[in-house]
Amino acid sequence: MSAPDDSTPDRSTTDSVDGSVSTPITEFPGFARLMARGLTRRCPWCGDRKAYFTGWFARTDRCRRCRHPYRRGDEAFELGATTANIILTFLSILIAILVAVAVTLPDIPTVPIVVIVGVIALAGPAIWYPISFTLWQAVDLFMRRPDADEMAGRSDGRL
Ligand SMILES: [Zn+2]
Repeated sequence: MSAPDDSTPDRSTTDSVDGSVSTPITEFPGFARLMARGLTRRCPWCGDRKAYFTGWFARTDRCRRCRHPYRRGDEAFELGATTANIILTFLSILIAILVAVAVTLPDIPTVPIVVIVGVIALAGPAIWYPISFTLWQAVDLFMRRPDADEMAGRSDGRL
């Protein structure tokens, strides 16, 4: 009679690199809920308002409440977040131009509009910074659905 093989770690208690286990979820949020959470800077996985941020620009690797990692095993996650940031900033500029033109027609004050757009272009990336992370995580969760292990909180997402 041999002793049970205990060389394989118990996946029900730990699996990720740092040994953290995320809170399991039974119902995966739909697209609208994911986007709403992402656009309001909440964790798309659990909906917590703090998500993984410790400051406007500071963040931890995992949600402070559910411990779900925002990267989900994707080392290039920040590339998507940067793209989301650029899109949000450009949309802000476009909306500002459209509103300014619509409000001031027919005499459009070009210089003030250019100044306002310049301010948005400079401040937008900083203002949208945390939302670009949560929004991109929401998009990532929708496009790359979690498997059963990730839903159960036993592993990070896999590429
Ligand atoms: Zn969370």
